[in-house]
Amino acid sequence: MDVEISNEALDALFAAARAASPREACGILLGQEKRVTALLETANVHPTPHTHFEIDPQALIDAHRAAREGGAQVLGYFHSHPEGPAKPSATDTQMAAHDGMIWAIAGRPDDGGGEGHTLDEKGYTEGGSQSYTLDTQGYTSGEKGHTSRSFDVTFWRDDQPGFTRLSYQRPRR
Ligand SMILES: [Zn+2]
Repeated sequence: MDVEISNEALDALFAAARAASPREACGILLGQEKRVTALLETANVHPTPHTHFEIDPQALIDAHRAAREGGAQVLGYFHSHPEGPAKPSATDTQMAAHDGMIWAIAGRPDDGGGEGHTLDEKGYTEGGSQSYTLDTQGYTSGEKGHTSRSFDVTFWRDDQPGFTRLSYQRPRR
């Protein structure tokens, strides 16, 4: 496990992705070290927000200031791909600053490809029916009624060699 994310932050992330569609949602991941405790959704100020994102720079400045004043750390960034897969796009790769930040990307679930199943926190394996696998992979476990989830999420570290995929889990309590 590389990253831990709270239920609240995960809920906020999917809600933001759904609400912004067909535009890209974006925001700031807040927390401590490897624990994402909150998502601060921000305006997407990019001029073509259907296919790009740019986090409102003032929101980012404010978040860094709050962190310096003892608030939650800025751990990374979130954005969504309303029509694309939950992985860095060519544009994301170009924009990456290789500064060690975490990127959370919400996108459409893979339609049967092998990739994406590695994040299955509940240990489901491939081999069930395809729809079952897609329904259960990733986030939802049913108790909150997310029966028709249409987004998946992946986490990445933007480091010197480029994006490295991170595993994640919700807190075990
Ligand atoms: Zn992207």
